[in-house]
Amino acid sequence: MSTVLFPGTFDPIHYGHINIARRAADLFDEVIVAVYARGQANILFSPEQRLALVEESFKTVGNISVTSYTGLTVEFARKVGATALLRGLRVFSDFEYEFRMALANNRLDPDIDVIALITSEEHTFLSSTTVREIAALGGDVSSMVPEHVQKALEERFQQLGKDQDIVPLTSLRD
Ligand code: ADP
Repeated sequence: MSTVLFPGTFDPIHYGHINIARRAADLFDEVIVAVYARGQANILFSPEQRLALVEESFKTVGNISVTSYTGLTVEFARKVGATALLRGLRVFSDFEYEFRMALANNRLDPDIDVIALITSEEHTFLSSTTVREIAALGGDVSSMVPEHVQKALEERFQQLGKDQDIVPLTSLRD
């Protein structure tokens, strides 16, 4: 059985991630989406919230399961029986980052391969950072994330009120 691990921060999950996982589900017997669960600076959603949003996104897909993890990704991949890591590639700058990560992971565990799928055209610009920034400014993210994520973003920003410094506004501010 071929199992691939799709690790990420997913803060929050968006249609770019969903597209990559669903396409991999057609190529592999099993896709495990793994939410990196340590709290980090500038993270909008807690590990539990990110996990719940990812779970809801794939509940109808039989061969995609969702979990969270901490520690080294290759070690977690080995533990769950995955033989490859799945990553998505958008623009050239992604390639450089993913290339370095793949080589580092290969040094750590040469038995775990890295499979990268090229994003579909309509998701090329899409990142969690962009989604967070648009939502923080009250913009419409309905074409970028599923409804349940949209709702979670609205609730989170309502909860944060004026304390929105958690989302650095870098490119889309007025
Ligand atoms: P990380 O913090 O590990 O980069 P992310 O949640 O940001 O986690 O992304 C997980 C994976 O999804 C990465 O390989 C990233 O390149 C990929 N990805 C993010 N956005 C897109 C997109 N729009 N299309 C395809 N792949 C994407």
